[in-house]
Amino acid sequence: MADTFKITLASKREKSVLRRHPWIFSRAIEKVDGEPKLGDTVEVYAKNGQWLARAAFSPHSQIRARVWTYEQNQQIDQSFFLQRIQTAYQSKSALINNSDALRVIAGESDGLPGLTVDLYKDILVCQFLAAGVEKHKAEIVAALEQVFPQLAIFERSDVDVRQKEGLKPISGWLKAGAQTSTWINEAGSQILVDVEQGHKTGFYLDQRDNRLIAADYCKGKQVLNCFSYTGTFGLHALKAGAEHVTNLDVSQLALDTSAKIYQQNQLDESKYTHLNADVFKQLRQYKKQGQQFDCIILDPPKFAENKGQVIRACRGYKDINMLALQILKPGGFLLTFSCSGLIEADLFQKVVADAALDANVEAHIIEKLTQAKDHTVLLSYPEGFYLKGLVVQKR
Ligand code: SAH
Repeated sequence: MADTFKITLASKREKSVLRRHPWIFSRAIEKVDGEPKLGDTVEVYAKNGQWLARAAFSPHSQIRARVWTYEQNQQIDQSFFLQRIQTAYQSKSALINNSDALRVIAGESDGLPGLTVDLYKDILVCQFLAAGVEKHKAEIVAALEQVFPQLAIFERSDVDVRQKEGLKPISGWLKAGAQTSTWINEAGSQILVDVEQGHKTGFYLDQRDNRLIAADYCKGKQVLNCFSYTGTFGLHALKAGAEHVTNLDVSQLALDTSAKIYQQNQLDESKYTHLNADVFKQLRQYKKQGQQFDCIILDPPKFAENKGQVIRACRGYKDINMLALQILKPGGFLLTFSCSGLIEADLFQKVVADAALDANVEAHIIEKLTQAKDHTVLLSYPEGFYLKGLVVQKR
């Protein structure tokens, strides 16, 4: 029989576990019985001896344990993973009716801390980002094969956060498929997703709903799509009747993929431009040239990876938003986003307000945007909310 490991929390530290927050920080732990290794299952007790939870131990991380279950009779085995995956998949597939791509599992929010699973039509892409899911990889993959028997499974655990858990980067097939890229459907458009070379798991599903909302603002407009990646904001804008779209990104591979996607969707070549440029520099350049746009989309990568980066990140957000507001025509729309979870919605709004002030522009919030519906936020884990957006009109 496997050893049973036990951790006992310091006084009052049981509160967050009782409120079903899945993270147990190293400083909350008073005592560890036995020598649990990377990813081992531990029983979590309050100081008064009350059993609280069963969790995965991570000896190298500040988040020393991540809760699997708050039910004492639930074992962490293949049927546990099967049940969590099935429940999440059933709940979410009912929410999305305009695409064959879905975020099936979003880690803690779906009760599987550290696991991301994205479905791209015929390929599943997984990221194992914490010790617990890494340890149980074989059972998780077997459970995924049971729920999705037809699909290939690709791993993209080639990310820095694994270092914090003491895990090495790794990527490749878990269940081989014919090819590493696939055409998904998003609201009637065909989009090429490269699960091997693409960013993250290959595509940004979290912006699905916002891309369609944005498209509505772009009808008949000159659009500047900043941080365009494979161009999906611009694609939907053109489909909705935008006059012209300029896609800006520093990744030539992303721009080339975007051009391929636009051809596949038979968009009129005279209506779009792909420009390999740094957004910070290019916006300054446009300002200098006096070039203006009716609609500007700012969807930058995560600027704040940790608390120490928040102030710098805010400066970055303020800078691009100020420049964008300056080169926006009066009456035009700025669709601005932040996917830094550490920058809360109120703070982001303040940063955009400061940007308007510095740009000497009167601007009004028309809509507030958030992550796509399949990126649900578990109420006991508010950290699952990270993507914020504002639609701002310049007067
Ligand atoms: N809007 C996209 C996702 C954007 S992801 C979509 O809906 O699919 C962020 C993108 O910003 C990446 O493609 C990355 O290559 C690009 N990027 C990062 N820093 C940049 C910079 N300084 N200038 C231009 N592009 C940048």
